[in-house]
Amino acid sequence: MRSLEESGLRRTLRAPAGIDLSSNDYLGLAQHPRIKAAMAAAVEREGAGSTGSRLLRGDRDSFAALERRFAQFKGTERALYFSSGYLANIAVMTTFAEAGDVIVSDAHNHASLIDGMRLSSARREIVPHNDVDAVRRAVEGAARPGPFGPGGECFLVVESLFSMDGDEAPLGDYAELCEQRAAHLIVDEAHAVGVYGSRGNGLIDEHGVAEQVFLSISTAGKAFGVAGAFVAGPAWAIEYLIQRARPFIFSTAAPPSLASAIYASLTLIEQEPERRERVRELAATLRSRLTAAAVPIGPGTSHIVPVLIGDNDAAVAVAEILQHDGFDVRAIRPPTVPAGTARLRVSVNANLTPELLEQFVLSLTAALTRVGVRL
Ligand code: PMP
Repeated sequence: MRSLEESGLRRTLRAPAGIDLSSNDYLGLAQHPRIKAAMAAAVEREGAGSTGSRLLRGDRDSFAALERRFAQFKGTERALYFSSGYLANIAVMTTFAEAGDVIVSDAHNHASLIDGMRLSSARREIVPHNDVDAVRRAVEGAARPGPFGPGGECFLVVESLFSMDGDEAPLGDYAELCEQRAAHLIVDEAHAVGVYGSRGNGLIDEHGVAEQVFLSISTAGKAFGVAGAFVAGPAWAIEYLIQRARPFIFSTAAPPSLASAIYASLTLIEQEPERRERVRELAATLRSRLTAAAVPIGPGTSHIVPVLIGDNDAAVAVAEILQHDGFDVRAIRPPTVPAGTARLRVSVNANLTPELLEQFVLSLTAALTRVGVRL
């Protein structure tokens, strides 16, 4: 504990306070009356808890209906709902790759993907972030062209929009490479689903690579405003998860009310494209204002805007000033991000306004100057 303190890495729990510039509620749906009403009605109808795992007494028609709808949304044969994205990623990473296989993984992949790989008996190969040439070398060195069989398979795992960097993976390049080398592309759409895609269905759709993706993981606790996650893909793979994925088999099913809430959220996402358009416009506004003010931000165009500070204590000090000014911004430190790259992870949501963002930029530049971060 003392070493955490000394290296500026001790974390504290803090409930939301102030204007939301840090949550993953990108479309502002967590408080939507139609979603809350759907959830409340389902609690009345179906009770509070599911009472068991899906393979025992925890299954409900509402889960199956939601999964059918989500598969349509993603354009895949089937989808399976998990009670968290963390569990969904553990499931995907431990169920398909076996001893003798290789998982090529971007260095900035989320902890849940990393933990899944640690539990897998496949060999891991970590490649530098978004480095297409390094990925090509790793996949070409590993992949044995041919259908699924024992050993020798190669899986490439990336986030479509990286959670702490806010930049996109080059999905087009990866899709082509995986197709050429018969490798299996797995894409975590946690931060992209709801915001990108022709129907809010994610960056896989936006890049037109659905045919080349083996499996995707989409969380429902972020832009959807609820909780849980879907794995979407071919029917055989989803059936295999039901039979084999330990996080699915050995965990109590989510409360059924979540299925109804997510169903309502999906309807809103499909019917109200203006929400995602607004997020993207607000993100562009914030990024251009910060760039004009010489604030160091991460590359890309997305609604996740990392303000790069470097030093752990400085990042916390800037976040505290902003919190005092009424902006709920959080410092992100190692091991969530590489050492020496502490940052504020600013996220834009549809409930913000250009005026609020303007006030935030003023507050942020003043805070950075006060803490001694050179602009
Ligand atoms: N994948 C990514 C990229 C994430 O950022 C997160 C959560 N922050 C998860 C998976 C895990 O999802 P959940 O919060 O639903 O467990």
